[in-house]
Amino acid sequence: MALVRSNALLIDFTRCIGCKECVVACLVEHGLGDDAEAVTGLSSRALTALTERDGVYVRQLCRHCLTPSCVSVCPVEAFTKTPEGPVVYDASRCMGCRYCMQACPFGIPKYEWDKPVPAVVKCDFCAARQAAGKPTACTEACPEEATVFGPRDELLAEAHRRLAEEPGRYYQHVYGESEAGGTAILFLSPVAFEDLGFRSVAGEPLPALTAAALEKIPGILSIGGAVLAGIWWITQRRDEVARAERAEEAAAHEEEDHNARS
Ligand code: SF4
Ligand code: SF4
Ligand code: SF4
Repeated sequence: MALVRSNALLIDFTRCIGCKECVVACLVEHGLGDDAEAVTGLSSRALTALTERDGVYVRQLCRHCLTPSCVSVCPVEAFTKTPEGPVVYDASRCMGCRYCMQACPFGIPKYEWDKPVPAVVKCDFCAARQAAGKPTACTEACPEEATVFGPRDELLAEAHRRLAEEPGRYYQHVYGESEAGGTAILFLSPVAFEDLGFRSVAGEPLPALTAAALEKIPGILSIGGAVLAGIWWITQRRDEVARAERAEEAAAHEEEDHNARS
C-alpha cells in the first residue's frame, strides 16, 4: 500500500449543529446552485448530504479510500487515486459501464441518468482547491470545526486523542481508520455507526476481492470489456460529430449575419 502522507477530513458528528453550510459550500464550489434544503441525499446534483438521524447530524460523501475499488475496477482508468488523497474522475475517459458504482463498498457514486451523455458523479475532495494549497470548501465553511482538513496521520491522531479525552462523548471507533483498508474521510460519532446507517465494511482493501469476484463472471473483463470499449468509441465519435455539427451551425449563422449586414 502506498504510504504517501495524504490529506484527509475528520468529520465529528458530536460537533455538527446541522447548519448545512458544508452542503451549500459544496454546491456553490461545483456550480450546482446553493439550495441545501433540496438535498436529501447523495445524487448527481449533490456531492455531499447532511441528514438528521435520532438527533445526530450525519454527513455523507466519497471516502477517498486509500486503495479504492472504483479505481481498480475501471477498465479505462477514468478513476485515479492521487498521492495527495483525492480519488478523481475523468468523464472524458468514462465509457459508462458503471462498474465503479457496483464496486464501491460505501455506495457513493451516482449517475446522471437524465443526461444524453451521462457521467458518474461523486465528491472530488476539492482536488483543484487542494492543488492550489487550499482546504476543501466544506471545511472552510464549517463554523463549528465539525469538519477539519489536514494530513491523515495527524487527523487520525487527533481523532484518537478525542476518544481518549472524552470517552463518554464518543462511540469508541474511528470510522475510516480501517474500513476498506482505510479511507481519507474519518468520522467520529456519539453512537454506533451502524445506528446511523453506516455500512459495516471489512477492514481490508477491497480491490483484490472485487477483481476476484469480477473474474468469476465469464468474459466480463474480456468480451464485456471489448464490447464496452466499442460503446465508448461510439460515444466519443458521437460527441465529435455533435461538436462538428455545432461548429458548422455557428459558421452558417455567422455567414447569414454577414450577408444581412452587407
Ligand atoms: S468511497 Fe467508493 S467512490 Fe469513493 S474512493 Fe472509495 S470506492 Fe471509490
Ligand atoms: S471535499 Fe469538496 S467536493 Fe467533497 S464534499 Fe467537501 S466541498 Fe464537496
Ligand atoms: S457546516 Fe459543519 S456544523 Fe454545519 S452542517 Fe456542515 S459539518 Fe455540521
